[in-house]
Amino acid sequence: MKYIVVTGGVISGLGKGITTASIGRILKDRGYNVVPIKIDPYINIDAGTMNPFQHGEVYVLADGTEVDLDFGHYERFMDIELRREHNITTGVIYLAVIERERRGEYLGQTVQIIPHVTNEIKDRVRSVAARSKADICLVEIGGTVGDIESMPFLEAVRQMRREERREDFLLVHVTLVPLTTHGEQKTKPTQHSVKALRELGLQPDIIVARCKEPLSASVKEKIAMFCDVQKRDVISAPDTEEIYEVPALLENEGIFERIREKMHLNRTRKNKEWERLVERCRILRSNDAPKVKIAIVGKYTGLEDSYLSIKEAIKHAAMHLGCSYENIWIEAEDLENGHRVKEILRADGILVPGGFGERGAEGKIKAIEIAREHKIPFLGLCFGFQLAVVEFARNVVGLKNANSTELCEDTPFPVVDLLEEQRSVDKKGGTMRLGNSTVVLRENSLAASIYNATRIVERHRHRYEVNPAFVDALTDAGLIFSGTDLSGKRMEVLEMPVEKHPFFFAVQFHPEFRSRPNRPSPPFKAFILACMRYHNNTTKQKNTPLQCTRFRKIKKCKHA
Ligand code: GLN
Repeated sequence: MKYIVVTGGVISGLGKGITTASIGRILKDRGYNVVPIKIDPYINIDAGTMNPFQHGEVYVLADGTEVDLDFGHYERFMDIELRREHNITTGVIYLAVIERERRGEYLGQTVQIIPHVTNEIKDRVRSVAARSKADICLVEIGGTVGDIESMPFLEAVRQMRREERREDFLLVHVTLVPLTTHGEQKTKPTQHSVKALRELGLQPDIIVARCKEPLSASVKEKIAMFCDVQKRDVISAPDTEEIYEVPALLENEGIFERIREKMHLNRTRKNKEWERLVERCRILRSNDAPKVKIAIVGKYTGLEDSYLSIKEAIKHAAMHLGCSYENIWIEAEDLENGHRVKEILRADGILVPGGFGERGAEGKIKAIEIAREHKIPFLGLCFGFQLAVVEFARNVVGLKNANSTELCEDTPFPVVDLLEEQRSVDKKGGTMRLGNSTVVLRENSLAASIYNATRIVERHRHRYEVNPAFVDALTDAGLIFSGTDLSGKRMEVLEMPVEKHPFFFAVQFHPEFRSRPNRPSPPFKAFILACMRYHNNTTKQKNTPLQCTRFRKIKKCKHA
C-alpha cells in the first residue's frame, strides 16, 4: 500500500480537502485505485450534530454516517462510495483506546498517547486502507499543523513514515502565500508552517502553495530554499472559480510527475473524461447566453456551503444539459415578511432543500404555494418534500392549520409526524433514518420516468414521515405519492399530474448526495430540464429563448 498524507498550515479553510480530492482524481485518471481517509482532530465522534454555520453541510454516506462536506468532494472527485471507517476523529480513537483499556487488553500497562493512541491511529489507517483494496491511500489531516488536537495524528504520521518504504509514503503540505497590499507574494507564513512540521520530525515532499495568483519563479525558489525541497516540488495552486478545474491546475504544475517519480508509479496513460467535463463547465461559465434562474429557498442561505451538495448537483445537471444557470439564494424568513416574492415569481424554478426546525418553515411553505399556483417548476428535498405535503393539505385539501408535528406539536392535522416505531426509537436517545434505503417507484409515474427504473436506492437523513392517516385525503385531492419504501408505509416521492403542473416533484430522500459530475442525479436533471422549458415558454413572447449549449460529441439537446 502507498500512502499520501496531506497536512495543512497557516490557516484552516485553505482547500486542503479539494487538494486531496484533486490528487485522488489525478491518480484515478491514471488507472490507480485510490481511497481517502479523513482525520478530523475534533473530539466529536461524527459531524452529525455539528452546526452547519460552523461546518457547512452535513454530508451523509451510504451507510448513514454523517460527515463533513469534504467527503462530498472526495466522493464527487474520485467517484467512490465511502463508509464510516473512512472518517477518523479524535473521539473515535480515544473511545477505542478507552474501551480496550476497560476490557483489560493493555494488561495493566500505563495507557499513553505514545504508543497506545498513536498505535490505534496507525492500525486504523492501515486496516482501512488494506480493506479498501486500493493502490494508494490518501490521508488528509484536518486542522492546521501546530494545533494541540492534531499532535497525536502527526506523531503517528511520523512513525508511519519511518516504518513504510521510502517510495510508499509521501507528505504533501498545503500552505498559504498571502499578498501584501502592494501585491507582493509573501513566503514567511509558509516557512513558519514548514518549520512547525519539521519540529515534529516531518519534512514535506511536496508543498502546495495556495495563493490568489500563480506563484512567481522567485517565490517558488525562496520556498524551496527555506523549506528544503526542490523548486519543482513547490506547486502553485492559485484561486480558481471552478473547483473541478483544480486537478488540471495541479497537473499543469507538474504534481503528477513529482508524485510519480517519488512513489515509483509507472502508469501514465490518462483517461480524459474529467477534462472533458471541466471543458463543458468552462464553456457554460463563459457563455453569456440567457441564464435559467433557480431560486433556492432555505435557511443559512448566507452560507452557501450549507447547501454545497445541492449546488454541485445543480451544476452537474446543468453541465449535462448544456444549460447556463444562476442560483438565487432566498432566505426563507424574508418570504414570511413579504420580501423577495417578486424574485421568486421571476424564477424559472424553485427548490426547497432539506432543513430542520421552525425558523423559516412558513416562508418555505409560501415558496411552495407560489410554485404550485404559478406553475413554476418545483423540486422539494426532504424537509421540502414534507412542507409540500403541508402546503397541499392546507391549501388544496382544505385542512386549515395542517402541519408537521416537528413544527407544531398540537396541530389539528398532523400530516407529517413521527411514525410509531420512530417515536419509540426516539425515546431511546433520538436517532434519524440515515443512509441508503430502497425506494419503490410506481410504474408509469413521473418518478419512474425520471429514474428510468422502478426500484432505486437513495440516501436519507430525516426523522419525520408523511402521516399514513392522511395519505388517502391527500391522494383524493390530486397529490400523487409515486414512491414508497419497501413496506409501502413511508411515502418517499410526491408529484403532480403533468396536466396540472409542468413539474412539481419532491422526494423524502437526498438525491444530491449521489450526484456526480459524470452522473448527474436524475431528479436534478429533470428539474433543470423543466426550468429550461419553463424559461423558454415564458420568454417566447420576448423572443429570447434560452440557447442550449451544444458540446462536441455530446448528444444534441432536444429540449431547448
Ligand atoms: N426535519 C425533517 C425531519 O427530521 C427533515 C429533515 C431534512 O430535511 N433533512 O424529518
